[in-house]
Amino acid sequence: MSIDHHKPNTSEQADRFDNKTVMTKMNRAWEALKDAVVLIDGDDRLTWWNLAAAQLLSLQDKDQGKSIFDYIQAPEFHEYYQEVTAHHDLHKDVHNDGVHMASWRDPKRYLKCEMTAFDKDKLLMIYDVTRLQHLEQMRRDFVANVSHELRTPLTVLMGYLENYSDQSDIPPKWQRGLELMTQQTARMNRIVNDLLLLSKIEIEETYELGYIDMTKLLTHVYDDAQAYNQDYGHTIHLQIDTYDGLYGSEMYLNSALSNLVINAIKYTPKGGNIEISWVKTSQGCQFSVTDNGIGIDTSHITRLTERFYRVDSGRSRATGGTGLGLAIVKHVLHQYNTSLQIESELGIGSTFSATFASSYVRSLS
Ligand code: ADP
Repeated sequence: MSIDHHKPNTSEQADRFDNKTVMTKMNRAWEALKDAVVLIDGDDRLTWWNLAAAQLLSLQDKDQGKSIFDYIQAPEFHEYYQEVTAHHDLHKDVHNDGVHMASWRDPKRYLKCEMTAFDKDKLLMIYDVTRLQHLEQMRRDFVANVSHELRTPLTVLMGYLENYSDQSDIPPKWQRGLELMTQQTARMNRIVNDLLLLSKIEIEETYELGYIDMTKLLTHVYDDAQAYNQDYGHTIHLQIDTYDGLYGSEMYLNSALSNLVINAIKYTPKGGNIEISWVKTSQGCQFSVTDNGIGIDTSHITRLTERFYRVDSGRSRATGGTGLGLAIVKHVLHQYNTSLQIESELGIGSTFSATFASSYVRSLS
């Protein structure tokens, strides 16, 4: 038995795919889309938009040619817009994740704007990400609450363990157990503290913004590093090329930079060299820490800042790591609109660096 499929003849095919039909279908698809789409020209003027954009931005036909900034005034959108445009003009490929912001019409809703530059024009897509934002918030609250709830029981456990360990008449068969319990509760305590710090950074609690004297902060980080370095015997060198400081939260920055320096110490075999530097660059100021340690295989680099991601979990645990250090660094750097750069070669060493844009750099004079 043969099935006689209806094959379109060439004239039917031509009808179905002629430019006008395709354009009409595309227009209807844009109108059906629930996400807002706006086409913007090289002078930041509105060229075209779909129905969802008209509703979201209250646009009417007469608004064609008006500036996008008349309709979206959020500073984070301005900043993002300039960044995408500048990178496109410089022919740079940027990892473009868009920008999240509260809706300007209903602060209970969250929007994500994502822009693609092409030729002189830009295509702006605006998505409603309220549900995603709520789920994210629930996850953050859950982690913060669990960590908080674990604090008291842990403090009680650590207190009793310390008391018992100090007794001179502990039966020998208990000693090893007590030692292990003390080690593991201390480890749990470090994890809980790091999780709490991460939660605080994420929700930008107690930001305490102000001038950060980088010379002072780095000298403090260096002194702590020297204390930690006693078992490793590395040569640690601190190079400060500028008196420029930063504007931000000192406590969080201190945690982030210390994590990077302590990692350099931990992941370098004894007697290594570690260089910490703070220098002025054409874009602002750069912090970097270079070691000649074990290095990291390229395949791991993009995942290093994920919570609990470790290249070698045995080594991380043995050195007292929580697996949260680089996640803390990533979130702190996010507050300065910058990201962690990692260059590494297995068996040769690594450089972790971050460039702080001029807008965050402050000098006292
Ligand atoms: P941890 O507490 O395990 O050190 P981090 O988040 O600070 O957690 O680091 C994540 C992983 O990145 C580490 O487990 C380690 O494998 C790798 N790593 C971090 N810094 C270095 C470094 N300087 N050299 C080699 N590997 C590193």
